[in-house]
Amino acid sequence: MKEFQGIGVSPGIAIGKVFVLHSGESFNLPKRAVGPEQISNEIARFEDALTRTRTEILNIRRKLSDQIGRESSDIFMAHLLILEDRTLIEDVIEVIKSEKAGAEYAFATVIQRYFKAFSKINDEYLKERISDIRDVGKRLLGNLCGEEKKRLEDLQGKVIIVSHDLSPSDTALLDKNKVIAFVTEIGGPTSHTAILGRSMEIPAIVGIEKIVGEVQDNDSVIVDGTHGVVVLSPDSATYDKFSRQGNEFLQLTSELDKLRELPAETLDGKRITLAANIEFHHEVSSALSHGADGVGLYRTEYFYMNRTTLPTEQEQYEAYRKVAEGMRSRSVIIRTLDLGGDKFASTLEIPHEMNPYLGWRAIRFCLTRKDIFKTQLRAILRASAHGDLKIMYPMVASVYEVRAAREILKEAKVELEREGLAFHKDIHVGAMIEIPSAALASDVLAKEVDFFSLGTNDLIQYTLAIDRMNEKIAYLYEPTHPAIVRLIDLTIRNGHGHNIWVGSCGEMSSDPAIAILLVGLGIDEISASPVTLPKIKKAIRSIRYSDAKEIAQRALALHTGKEIYAFLKGKLRDVCVELADE
Ligand code: PEP
Ligand code: MG
Repeated sequence: MKEFQGIGVSPGIAIGKVFVLHSGESFNLPKRAVGPEQISNEIARFEDALTRTRTEILNIRRKLSDQIGRESSDIFMAHLLILEDRTLIEDVIEVIKSEKAGAEYAFATVIQRYFKAFSKINDEYLKERISDIRDVGKRLLGNLCGEEKKRLEDLQGKVIIVSHDLSPSDTALLDKNKVIAFVTEIGGPTSHTAILGRSMEIPAIVGIEKIVGEVQDNDSVIVDGTHGVVVLSPDSATYDKFSRQGNEFLQLTSELDKLRELPAETLDGKRITLAANIEFHHEVSSALSHGADGVGLYRTEYFYMNRTTLPTEQEQYEAYRKVAEGMRSRSVIIRTLDLGGDKFASTLEIPHEMNPYLGWRAIRFCLTRKDIFKTQLRAILRASAHGDLKIMYPMVASVYEVRAAREILKEAKVELEREGLAFHKDIHVGAMIEIPSAALASDVLAKEVDFFSLGTNDLIQYTLAIDRMNEKIAYLYEPTHPAIVRLIDLTIRNGHGHNIWVGSCGEMSSDPAIAILLVGLGIDEISASPVTLPKIKKAIRSIRYSDAKEIAQRALALHTGKEIYAFLKGKLRDVCVELADE
């Protein structure tokens, strides 16, 4: 039995068998140990990947030769020669055998040795061959790991995925009927992979360094997503303990779900709109079953992932219409495309940047790719004829973006009018407040929009200079840092000062102790993953607004994130001990 501690990002307990999934993005792969009986299978997998890579290269070469001539296509000859290099093949087989390692690790290890050897050679021509080795190596690794994904699609039973990393686009493909939990070595609590774990309602843990090297397919494992604990090969007492806790968790969840029909209202009658964050249109049922008053954030970027063409206006219109109608006249806020950071789409060539979170992303990308942006706005506008839709722009840093987006929205409206297509003419438009400049200048921004929604995941990242993806500095990611509490307070006051409502759609509001703070600061709407809504509602229904306001003022006067959090937790314990001790 062995225990690992990571960052629990989606609550609940799962008990099952490991499935090791390799991502194939880098040559720094952790070792996957295999049993002696699997060695011949790993060699066969490697040889199979060699053959497939060779066929792919021959096909590309043939195509290029037809299109641009024989000479240019000859670069691929170099790739073929690398694949046929007997020494390389034998070295990989040797690593599989001697280190009892999976094929991807063995191949990556040998390729790294080649890089080292080539970089020491004093010959420019040979040095340049490194890029050929890298290209062909990536292709082969992709084939080995792609086969892993295929293996995942073909799964019969239910598994717990253990992987170095899972990209949001890979996570979006996971089938909840087959994957009951996942564990990764990297990633922070508000990475989009973590957020998807919560939306799938399966336990998930990130940030367990080197776990991939410690497990094998079919190992028995327990994942406690609430506390971030993984137990490998549990003994029977541990198994019983976690099974019991798993049942208690399910019981508490179903108890809280009984609040579904009740309003998110404080004891003295202050009503808060409690909305759901969704990523896919089919999550409407989950939002409703957990008692959402609306959708406070529909992250539309998943529409653009895992496909070879851009989504058409009609396709988007149909999905947005489904959400609008599914929510039965409740408010639905559609956030326009927020790609970049940790979310990429293969159809959109966003170049690799040094600082992707500070780069050409979200509204910045949309304002330069007006074609893509207008298509989405037209789709949202058309769907607005079928429900209460609102538009929200991500990553607003200044009034410029809002004004530029408004012009494009105006054009879309004029076009639809001309085409005789129905839409809601006065559709409300909001800005996400997730960049410190937007929060600090929220008084001027408030004059430009109909509402604000605080995107605290990014607001924390940018204010505290903490990469939200990085597990090594996750301990510094403090939602209750005084700077964050002050920025939220300022934004709400500025919003209200200009008669617009202010919501919050970051992950921090799913912590009931923090929800009390937000209520006390005067928040109008809280939007969070559907599964977390019942406990937020329970917290809101347990407190008086007058007390929450006083709590918020006292929190504002404290000096550290830890002090503020401990204070809030204590107040939550006073009013609802079950939530505080969860
Ligand atoms: C946020 O930044 O808080 C937010 C809700 O958006 P996302 O997590 O998609 O960046
Ligand atoms: Mg954001």
